[in-house]
Amino acid sequence: MGKKDGASNKGKFYITTAIDYPNADPHIGHAYEKLCADVIARWHRLLGEEVFFLTGTDEHGLKIMRSAQKAGLTPKEFVDKQSLKFVELCRRWNISNNRFIRTTEEEHIRVAQEIFNKIYKKGDIYLGQYVGPYCTDCETFYTEKDLKNGLCPVHAKKCEIVKEESYFFKLSKYKEFILEYIDKRDDSIKPDGKKEEIKNRLKAGLEDLSVSRTSFDWGVPVPKNPKHVQYVWIDALINYISGVDYPKERFRKFWPADVHIIGKDIVWHHTVIWWSILKAAGIKLPKTVLVHGFILSEGGEKMSKSSGKVINPIELADKYNIDAVRYYLIRETPFGEDGYFSESKLIERNNTELANDVGNFANRVLALISQKSQGVIPKGELDREIVAKLNIEKIKKHFERFELHLALAEIMGFVKQCNQYINEKEPWKKSGVELNNLLYTLAECLYAIAVMLSAFMPATSDKIAKALKTEVASLKDIFSGKCLTQSKVESRCILFEKILADNKAKTF
Ligand SMILES: [Zn+2]
Repeated sequence: MGKKDGASNKGKFYITTAIDYPNADPHIGHAYEKLCADVIARWHRLLGEEVFFLTGTDEHGLKIMRSAQKAGLTPKEFVDKQSLKFVELCRRWNISNNRFIRTTEEEHIRVAQEIFNKIYKKGDIYLGQYVGPYCTDCETFYTEKDLKNGLCPVHAKKCEIVKEESYFFKLSKYKEFILEYIDKRDDSIKPDGKKEEIKNRLKAGLEDLSVSRTSFDWGVPVPKNPKHVQYVWIDALINYISGVDYPKERFRKFWPADVHIIGKDIVWHHTVIWWSILKAAGIKLPKTVLVHGFILSEGGEKMSKSSGKVINPIELADKYNIDAVRYYLIRETPFGEDGYFSESKLIERNNTELANDVGNFANRVLALISQKSQGVIPKGELDREIVAKLNIEKIKKHFERFELHLALAEIMGFVKQCNQYINEKEPWKKSGVELNNLLYTLAECLYAIAVMLSAFMPATSDKIAKALKTEVASLKDIFSGKCLTQSKVESRCILFEKILADNKAKTF
């Protein structure tokens, strides 16, 4: 890792997802991004840090207005209804966000106006003329690259070249600053390949950005000139500071954000545009923009409504144990790369790695303690040989490099070794001190697995901890002897059901 300027902020961690545009229902891409952020947020809580995790919905703009009209609702009624679906997604996927922000909230609007004002007063926003292709049916300005074969992408008709009064942000002024900032920090943009993409695009030229519209009114009004509304991207990006109560105490504590996790299609907005806005407003820049890949359908297409291959994340939560889905998505796809969603692979991993490996180990340990020690974890000595096989430092390093899949693989490797350990030690043949040491070691290992897996599969970890009559605490407490109790543990716990080929679940 490169140099870090976060030393003064040790102990706090602020992570955000992109806020979702709720003109359509949530799809698995929304769920995947929240899941990745959730795993990272939960891991930092395990490290003992104070975490703030923000997600939400981006509720302004012409597309929302149109979708509302189609649904026969006012824009506000429409977003009230739609945003609830994203809140529900968070609940069903066990996402541990501390706040769900909506850009239609009064306080957000106030902050978006304050930042706009600040930049205007500085002289970096000016009133000018926007000239470009305009579709009268859409009442929308397009850029040349929005057009399909030179025609309106919605109506496939010829656009007029029209002038509209617009405020502009002096984005061009920040070109050198952004180029320097990208290289100043090793982890300004992750994975590294994305840095070059942005640098190449910047070197090709950077123009001032139109930051207001007058052709519709569903947006944040420009202060003192309310016939203009802010360009939806400006309004949306500001959620990352309004979401921590800019400029109040929570903002002072958590800003700058440690991680903005986003999809690869919006890196430009989150680096060039967002960083320039912050610089212009005299606000520190976030530490890392972390780019995840897309989840594609098995054929390799990006899942979208038009391709007809949408996997509804709520239906997925109805059909499967959500921890199995969470596990599958993180384990299957190297973080940062595109993944292919396959139900058959989800089922395979559920049956082997989860039901067989994790579920089996938990139940063997609980059964042994029940049969050989009346359900009470005996006092004993920890067998350091097996404990040493859990390489916590290596897992921490994987998390620092955002290699979530490798962190999880490492933990699962330990689970396998624990099962092997039972096979080799044959505790059913042992007695006395030797047996006590074994049972105690196994209980500590099971507890450690519950803690380590809790960032990925929080409900499963809670079930294991509950069966052990304890709770998931912080990482530093594993193998400390402090977390196990003398209460009678449960003789078994059901963690994962094996799913048969015909999709009928069978209790493991
Ligand atoms: Zn049109």
